Amino acid sequence: MARMKDDIHDENKKVRRQLKAFMAQARKNEEKMRRFNELELQLISADSLADLLRLVVYNYRTAFELDVVSLILVDSEYEVQRMLDDSGLDPGLFPELNFVENAMVLDSLYGISLKPLLGLFQENEHSSLFGDVPLIPASVALLPLVRQGRLIGSLNLGSLNQERFISGSGTEFIERLAAVVSICLENAANHERLKRIGLTDPLTRLNNRRFFEQRLREEVFSASRYKQPLGCMFLDIDKFKFINDSLGHQTGDAVLIAVADVIASCLRAGDVVARYGGEEFVALLPKTGLDSVLEIAERIRTSVSGFDFKLPGSGIPQVSISIGVSMLTTEIMNDDIEAQISPLVARADQALYQAKNNGRDQVVFSKP
Ligand code: GH3
Ligand code: MG
Ligand code: MG
Repeated sequence: MARMKDDIHDENKKVRRQLKAFMAQARKNEEKMRRFNELELQLISADSLADLLRLVVYNYRTAFELDVVSLILVDSEYEVQRMLDDSGLDPGLFPELNFVENAMVLDSLYGISLKPLLGLFQENEHSSLFGDVPLIPASVALLPLVRQGRLIGSLNLGSLNQERFISGSGTEFIERLAAVVSICLENAANHERLKRIGLTDPLTRLNNRRFFEQRLREEVFSASRYKQPLGCMFLDIDKFKFINDSLGHQTGDAVLIAVADVIASCLRAGDVVARYGGEEFVALLPKTGLDSVLEIAERIRTSVSGFDFKLPGSGIPQVSISIGVSMLTTEIMNDDIEAQISPLVARADQALYQAKNNGRDQVVFSKP
């Protein structure tokens, strides 16, 4: 009798232990699911492509206790890299992100099945996927990123634990993640494209007036805050109507494009240049004193008048440009920053008007 009681007691203990283990596993799964949902939400609501990429690489790694996460993107026309340059992301600080010019390497890795690959890290096959990341994983899960049947990249998860990713184990979780990442990447890229279209002049590919108005405000505020001079230029091609009338509007367009290139090439990376409208351009030169602004304006003027337009089938037009310059200097700055924005532009415009009246092809500075 006592023996039977002991047996039941032992059995009971065993069942309770098992139940406890099940409960622990269930809680673990629940927790994994929760983190997964949270990450998914973060990915969906990322504000920009740069943010999305950071989330994919860093948040995924920490949320799922991975040792390395890297991302390869197919970027044949350098479009994504250009978007990231524009957003100020320094690729040197982001070794987990790498680009390939075509999908060849990934095609041969994933074959036609386009299924995730799990297993031990293979130096010769996998090291290029992890690029400049200093850490070598023991096991990896490689997820193909696919949109409309095409490979757009690869998300590579690595663990120092050999048994973390085992060939043949279930991949539902990570397949779903790969699908979400792929869709989010495409959406973010489309969003960046729209943003660029909305702020770019399609003919000259310079920024447009809308972009300029935004940046003008930012630059005036920044100049006032850091007490640094800000130069402003209004540039207008001389007798442009005559070029159109005598050589046709297509030649006119070609001249506009060439002049835009000349202007942009005379400015520096931190300067802002835009097509203000028609044959008018505008530029902002942050942290630049009057002497330098006038020197750069003069360089633009001589570069335009000396430019070899080499236009097809037409006589060589004589193209010149007039430039009005104004400055926001520390002497005229005051606490009402907002009130300094439009006078800066208005003075450059007045100076331009004067340059036209004085006979064109010249730079005029308008004092406050
Ligand atoms: P000014 O020296 O006084 O500036 O004379 P202008 O002839 O340059 O000035 P005006 O404002 O009279 O003429 C500008 C011309 O620019 C008129 C317009 O048809 C032309 N234009 C504006 N946008 C474009 C464009 O995108 N392409 C072409 N081909 N012409 C344009
Ligand atoms: Mg003009
Ligand atoms: Mg004009």
